[in-house]
Amino acid sequence: MQPLVLQARRALTPLEQVEDAVVVVDADRIVAIGRRGELRTPDSAWRFEFPDCTLVPGFVDIHIHGAAGRDAMEATPEALAAIASAVARFGTTTLLATTVTAQLEHTLRSLRGMAEYILHHQTDGPPASRQAWMAGVHLEGPFINPVRRGVHPEEFILAPSLPVLEQMLEAAQGQARILTLAPELPGALELVAAARRHGLVVSLGHTDATYQQACSAIQHGAQHAAHMFNAMRPFSHRETGIIGAVLTAPEVTAELIADGVHVHPAAMQLLLAAKGVARVILVSDGTAATGMPDGNYQLGTIPVVVSGGVCRDHQGRLAGSTLTLDRALRNIVRLGVPFEEALRMVTLNPARLLGMDSTIGILAPGAQADLVLLDDDLHVRGVMTRGTGLPGAKEES
Ligand SMILES: [Zn+2]
Repeated sequence: MQPLVLQARRALTPLEQVEDAVVVVDADRIVAIGRRGELRTPDSAWRFEFPDCTLVPGFVDIHIHGAAGRDAMEATPEALAAIASAVARFGTTTLLATTVTAQLEHTLRSLRGMAEYILHHQTDGPPASRQAWMAGVHLEGPFINPVRRGVHPEEFILAPSLPVLEQMLEAAQGQARILTLAPELPGALELVAAARRHGLVVSLGHTDATYQQACSAIQHGAQHAAHMFNAMRPFSHRETGIIGAVLTAPEVTAELIADGVHVHPAAMQLLLAAKGVARVILVSDGTAATGMPDGNYQLGTIPVVVSGGVCRDHQGRLAGSTLTLDRALRNIVRLGVPFEEALRMVTLNPARLLGMDSTIGILAPGAQADLVLLDDDLHVRGVMTRGTGLPGAKEES
């Protein structure tokens, strides 16, 4: 295949801004990036110009349950491919398939299906059609606190257990990347340490942890917080709970569902002010209803109703979202965050958390050719996943 030369008004790596930018793509990799005129490009290349647009790295969604009417817990190749294709339209080029608390046997079956899909698609080379790369699994539950369970079914929540974690890790065949748990549960701290030994990112979530409990989890190796403010003990100035611990621990990263429904804009501002642009990660927490009309869907085994784009269970509790990362990015920019900084929160920051920032979430030689073309209103004008898509943006619907 011939190399592609993509020219745009500018590119954001996202750490650097390149005006009049040229990105050279060979098969599924970026091989060069620089300013037009300063970068030698292969004569044989196909050239495409996007003079009104900005090229940015593809978005990385580390917390997503589904899209296009399908849930990741279905874990069939069809369901996972449907999710991966649907989110790619909105700029997501990497995702972690995220579980929701379910009967252990069900979870194990889902993890096996996800792992098989991921391993099958890890072979090198461009994908046949434009779809997000599944970089692993985010285990949300079952070791969560029933009082902060949100819509996770109470009957399937489990006390922290090393044997259960090991069963899950075995089913996931090395593809588990993040474990979200409540650190205040008996035995949770040992699990934090065990998960870290297995190379997982430990994320605090669905938790009623006090400030002290959260701090000791951080000392034991927890370095991340799932959907900050949601399904957490609320903040008080005398007992700040986990929120105070996350806001003030410099090394801890925090997910944010920036749909304007899950978290008040003032709380978003507070998070951004406390954590800075390098420690906030925008996630969709997207469900099967993402990219679909209002109606009835499933989150794992939980029936949910979507009305006005807001996803709730039958008791009216928020049950994930229909958010896409392009919209999350626009919402953060609308809060007053410069676009160049906000972009990190959907690209480099999640890639760094996963230890994958040399290949995803960045425009650099050697990185996967995952690219998004944005117009001045930050709407997605084209997407490339590992070298597939983008020119002419024909796949846009
Ligand atoms: Zn959750």
